[in-house]
Amino acid sequence: MSDPSKPMTIPILGGAPPKPINIAIFSELGAGAVLSPNSQRAMECIDPRIFEGFQRRAAFGVDSPDENGLFPWITMTKGQEPDIGEAVMQWKHETKGSTIHRAHFLDELAKLIEPSRAHFGKSVAKITESGDNDPVVLHFKDGTTAEADLVIELVPDDGTTLGWSIWEMPPAPTYYNGRVAIMGDAAHASTPYQGAGAGQTIEDSLVMERLLGKYFDPAREKRLPLSTVETTHLIFQAFDTVRRHRSQKVQTTSSETGRILTGAEPGVSMKASDMSARMNGRQDWMWNYDQEGQVKDAMLIFEEVEWSRERNAANSSV
Ligand SMILES: Cc1cc2nc3c(=O)[nH]c(=O)nc-3n(C[C@H](O)[C@H](O)[C@H](O)COP(=O)(O)OP(=O)(O)OC[C@H]3O[C@@H](n4cnc5c(N)ncnc54)[C@H](O)[C@@H]3O)c2cc1C
Repeated sequence: MSDPSKPMTIPILGGAPPKPINIAIFSELGAGAVLSPNSQRAMECIDPRIFEGFQRRAAFGVDSPDENGLFPWITMTKGQEPDIGEAVMQWKHETKGSTIHRAHFLDELAKLIEPSRAHFGKSVAKITESGDNDPVVLHFKDGTTAEADLVIELVPDDGTTLGWSIWEMPPAPTYYNGRVAIMGDAAHASTPYQGAGAGQTIEDSLVMERLLGKYFDPAREKRLPLSTVETTHLIFQAFDTVRRHRSQKVQTTSSETGRILTGAEPGVSMKASDMSARMNGRQDWMWNYDQEGQVKDAMLIFEEVEWSRERNAANSSV
């Protein structure tokens, strides 16, 4: 069991000056990002203040809704003859279309981080995990180390470039190993053709945040026969089960979207009508997802194991 008098350590790492740490300055090569309706709902579920920060800084479309109450989000038209100007796709939603500068969104997130829990300007060189009774150790490039009960990894730095690199990961067989989990692009980097990668990262964060918040509870730990290490494994297993399929489907469909839009998808011609038949409605399953539903599914996976452990412990004490 972990010592309830000690706070659990979850290092939060990012790229910004080391001190003072109550103001984090993010430099960001990218410009705008579309944070889709599912991303916005996920950020609201994590903490309404994140969504408020997003709304403060996002640029919203000025178009009125159509006759079905839907606002335009992404509209593409054909730029080549013979059907130049014809619609290739029109993605709409009942929430207003918006885009946000990445650095502005990060600014809003940084305001919500408790300064004592965030350490910026650190670069991880390697992570080591020995026995279950020892902490996971992060080794930084500046020679310092930090200990943690569990680690959630970030995507490796792309170094300093003057452009974007586009990485697509092959489907990962798992999103965790021992007490180290991956999420966001580290787990499922995808091509950008659906504007969905950051949204999947936010959904990962929602599920992970709820699992960590609920199950690393000292009162619960006292009652249950699960050690900190077992709780960590179970949290990661629940996260992996719920998040891997959906985020990898986004990777797959994103590549397919890229192929459709560039004329590289077998069986889809470059005629606007053919492309729009495949493109319209393609976003529905991503955008209209039940965010609280996936959290409940993850918790059920955790609690089924927890219940059976409790039952076994009760039976063996009779
Ligand atoms: C051209 C393009 C357009 C896109 N447009 C959209 C869009 O409109 N909407 C959308 O939802 N998604 C979009 N995406 C995808 C989106 O950018 C990513 O999915 C998202 O940024 C992933 O977030 P992340 O936190 O996992 O990784 P990142 O944003 O890459 O963050 C990882 C962080 O970890 C840090 N780091 C890396 N290595 C270390 C280390 N060793 N030690 C310490 N820190 C480290 C990095 O410096 C960085 O700050 C786009 C991607 C591209 C390429």
